[in-house]
Amino acid sequence: MNVLMVSAEMAPFAKVGGLADVVAALSAAMAARKHDVRVVLPLYGHLDREREKIRPLAKLPPLSVRVGQEVHDIRFHMRGSPRSAVKVYLVECPSLFDREGVYAGKDGATFTDGLARASLHGQAALLLARLLEWPVDVIHAHDAEAAPAIVYRQKWYAGRGLPGPAGTLLTIHNLAHQEIHPAAGADTLGLPRSMASYPGLLEFNGNVNLLKAGILAADRVNTVSPTYAVETITDPDFGCGLEGILSGREKSYSGILNGADYTTWDPRKDKALPEDFGPADLSGKETCRRELLKELGLKSVADKPLCGFVGRLVHQKGLDLLLPLLNRLAEDGFTFALLGTGDKALEDETRKAAARHPDRVAFVGAFDESLAHRIYAGSDLFLMPSVFEPCGLSQMYSLRYGTLPVVRRTGGLADTIVDASKKNGTGFVFDDPTPEDLLAALRTAEGWWESPQKWRKLQERGMKCDFSWSQSAARYEKLYRAVGRTRGR
Ligand code: ADP
Repeated sequence: MNVLMVSAEMAPFAKVGGLADVVAALSAAMAARKHDVRVVLPLYGHLDREREKIRPLAKLPPLSVRVGQEVHDIRFHMRGSPRSAVKVYLVECPSLFDREGVYAGKDGATFTDGLARASLHGQAALLLARLLEWPVDVIHAHDAEAAPAIVYRQKWYAGRGLPGPAGTLLTIHNLAHQEIHPAAGADTLGLPRSMASYPGLLEFNGNVNLLKAGILAADRVNTVSPTYAVETITDPDFGCGLEGILSGREKSYSGILNGADYTTWDPRKDKALPEDFGPADLSGKETCRRELLKELGLKSVADKPLCGFVGRLVHQKGLDLLLPLLNRLAEDGFTFALLGTGDKALEDETRKAAARHPDRVAFVGAFDESLAHRIYAGSDLFLMPSVFEPCGLSQMYSLRYGTLPVVRRTGGLADTIVDASKKNGTGFVFDDPTPEDLLAALRTAEGWWESPQKWRKLQERGMKCDFSWSQSAARYEKLYRAVGRTRGR
């Protein structure tokens, strides 16, 4: 099948979180299954065109695209050899994309012209298929930012010369990010007025909501774990106001667990680590632990675990459950290697905790891919006390690196981690999003840590877990075929 993917992120070009890893790995997995997969990304200002081998696509002319009242100049680029398995197209649009950052500037402030950027991205993706005369079977849009590609296809572009059946699939990676904008923004999308007010399509509590429009317009909708699919329909805390809309599409809505890309996340051949290791020999992990402590200026107490955290510092990730515990745990001898950026208040609080216990708590407030690998490898426990978690990749990576995850039973965490008390346990699972429950899980983990042989068994089991893309790619393939069928393929 010919699959046109539309996404704001794709590793290694533009990464804020798991979406980037998923788009890179899923597109590669589908290409390996002999599908022709082409990804359309914005050409962000921070991308190093030379290093990434991004070249203008000479055969397509520069174009002008209308977005609301404005006309923007665009040009298509391509990455590297056009013969590589996944073709990555990048949309150059200096007025909208030539900035540092994907959704927000360096100061952390979200860009206010998200609708215009999403509109241009969606239009450019469809234009590209048309100009290349490439018959698209499936338009696969990821998250709210890419939803306009689907809305345009279904509600506007239909019959406007888009080659191929072009069925549509929307994947929701996080329902909390919906791209909600003031109602006046409807004009920015350039949809005819009749369509902008198309009953319920864009309107959401008096605003414009791109994710809602995508959910209503797409042939099929999925999210990134079976448990999150259920949570988002049944529980308003997870549905973020869209639970009714999703319920209305229940028959076309499903959950497919993300996979981990073990070509990038493999402690047996990871260039970021001081020493490699694998399930048969964990001595390299001890070196990774020692070096991580040194790198971060931490002093470990031999009989207490080193706890890692890598993630966006936002309420979702449950860091506010951990912060009230840090003092006590640090005094007890636990050490913490914390890496993340995000909410300024959470960053400040974490920094303060690190300043209070410089030997026990290290906080790096940056995006550092290489350090992330060393934290997965060098830690004993990986903390993921998420309030909600659509899928989560970090817990899968830590399993592979012999680091036992401490997770809350929600979304993809519930689907991937089995509590140590069970026969096939791989980590420590708690139920309520409270510091008390997290502490209880950490105390349980501490108990296991005191029995090296039992600990080792958990590590071995975790390292052997296979969350590779093969099963999930097969499920997406099935979904692609279903989407194709809705268009009479
Ligand atoms: P989410 O998509 O909600 O952010 P995931 O667990 O699915 O969470 O994916 C997070 C990805 O982003 C992982 O690859 C993780 O290692 C990476 N990541 C998050 N924050 C940072 C950071 N500060 N530095 C390096 N990598 C990070």
